[in-house]
Amino acid sequence: MRSPPVSPPATRTEFAGATMGGPWSVKFPAAPPDATLERRVADELARLDGDLSLWRPESALSQFNRQTSTDWTPVPADVARAVAIAREISEMSGGAFDVTIAPAVDLWGFGPAASPAREGRPPADAEVAAAIARVDYRQLDVREDPPALRKRRPDVRIDLGAIGKGYAADRVAAILDQAGANDSLIAVGGELRARGRAADGRPWRVGVETPVPDVRRVLLAVELPSGTGLSTSGDYRNFLDVAGHRLSHEIDPRTARPIPAARGPALVSVIHESNARADAWATALFVLGPDEGYALAIKLNLAALFVTRGDGKFETRMTPGFEKCLAQ
Ligand code: AMP
Ligand code: MG
Repeated sequence: MRSPPVSPPATRTEFAGATMGGPWSVKFPAAPPDATLERRVADELARLDGDLSLWRPESALSQFNRQTSTDWTPVPADVARAVAIAREISEMSGGAFDVTIAPAVDLWGFGPAASPAREGRPPADAEVAAAIARVDYRQLDVREDPPALRKRRPDVRIDLGAIGKGYAADRVAAILDQAGANDSLIAVGGELRARGRAADGRPWRVGVETPVPDVRRVLLAVELPSGTGLSTSGDYRNFLDVAGHRLSHEIDPRTARPIPAARGPALVSVIHESNARADAWATALFVLGPDEGYALAIKLNLAALFVTRGDGKFETRMTPGFEKCLAQ
């Protein structure tokens, strides 16, 4: 047998895989302490994907969406927990975040259902009006013990796409905590979570990307404090061109219409102790936009960055909490 051209590294310092339609990874500055850790992280992410995904017809979420009962329906604890956090951010954001957004997401072609919007044809006003009537987080009750959800109208459907990856990053952190693997950088899709320090003894350094499609360049670097997560919502990775307008996959629940690129920010990033909340807030502040969103971030003491398209260049505006985390 021929030996490989280079010897493998003595210790593995990165776990990686795929979940929720994207990659995940955990980086360690040195070898992780526990040989079974990678398996446990991968299993937890697979389990969460199976519970929270809209793209899997058999997920707990898809099953709940299909049924039309208005009685309490038992769901996995993680679904109830994620919905409870979603509800908290819905209330705090005045409905800019809304976990019942699924009908509007489908209508505009960003969900699993087929939609003419994907071929560039916008939905009719009557269809948009029908979606507005169905989207309202107050039509969904959540109970955590025992975990259950209740629809107030039979056609309520939920979408955890704006909070699920952040929630998963929090769950991975909990597993690493139990294992005593304190120094690590978790990534679930674009959701990042820092624990402890990097190999150079400094906080983990991560980049916020330039909001340009198909370009991977760092716009600004952040030193993520231990125990916090960074989440980014943008219009430059997932968008549709409909009737000559670029539409983001971030949808305003009040109008059931996507935020047009011409009006919205290019990206919003949030740093928060809870990744689920960082994820949900990035989406909520994107929907609120650089003026209303910034004012709310200041009022609630959120660490938030808004990047907007100015005259041929990007303009950045950040709250003091975010500025504190910029890499020197
Ligand atoms: P994110 O990338 O975290 O901002 O999540 C975007 C995804 O969240 C979209 O693809 C939709 O599935 C969903 N979504 C869009 N608009 C909203 C909203 N206003 N509130 C909650 N979820 C949303
Ligand atoms: Mg989000």
